[in-house]
Amino acid sequence: MKKKENIYCFLTILTIILILTSISIIKVYKKNKPIEVFSSTTNLSKRRYYKKEYQERYENYKEKNPNLEDDKIIIYVNIGLDNPFYTNTQKSPRQNTKEVLVNKYYYLDKDYIPKDLTLIDEKYQSGNRKMVKEAALKFNEMARSAKEAGYNIRAISTYRSFDYQNNLYTRYSQIDGSKKADTYSARPGYSEHQTGLAVDVDNFITNYTNFGSTNEFGWMKNNAYKFGFILRYTKENEFITGYLNEPWHYRYVGVGIATKMKQENISSYEEFYFKYLD
Ligand SMILES: [Zn+2]
Repeated sequence: MKKKENIYCFLTILTIILILTSISIIKVYKKNKPIEVFSSTTNLSKRRYYKKEYQERYENYKEKNPNLEDDKIIIYVNIGLDNPFYTNTQKSPRQNTKEVLVNKYYYLDKDYIPKDLTLIDEKYQSGNRKMVKEAALKFNEMARSAKEAGYNIRAISTYRSFDYQNNLYTRYSQIDGSKKADTYSARPGYSEHQTGLAVDVDNFITNYTNFGSTNEFGWMKNNAYKFGFILRYTKENEFITGYLNEPWHYRYVGVGIATKMKQENISSYEEFYFKYLD
């Protein structure tokens, strides 16, 4: 009886040793084998936005986010989300077009001033607000259309120069510290307002920070895209943009892009950009 127990004990130990050895062999193998991207069932290389040179970054990101779909892994890494905000920064692509991308990875130079800055109709703004001509005209159209439906939209901040943004960000950082300021204010060069394509709005009455609870916000949700404007910073895309929800901040991208984003339910301009424009 005793002997039989000893044999069982021996077998159990042997099994454990075998399992542990095979695990470590697999680990070593995994480390040394060339990086293979994801499951063989997904043919990633056929996707337009897949970048061969990012293969290792995709793998690393996948390892950190095992539950994320492969498609999202690719887009997020292309956006740059595997690096912290304000690292690996580059000059904004597509400058002086309505597709320009400005965020915490892509910046505009100090002397970047958009062409054709045009005043918005005085009925729909306060403080001589200017946007790139096409955006300004579309904003007028949008505000007029809102007005006809009984809603009042007003531009309260549009184009801001590098220096203006620098003062703003410096002031906020002094008040709140830079870590907190970064969640609601862009560092100079990284503000979408410098493109002349961004606009902060209110409804003439309520403070702009409460725009999300106004009827005008509801109207914008259903209609802004028809005039080429998208809501830029939402709760849903906070992890992509690095900004807290801003119901008052809209970005002109043109009717084509805004409509496509709406149809495909794409939550951030970054995702759209790296899917279709990169
Ligand atoms: Zn804004």
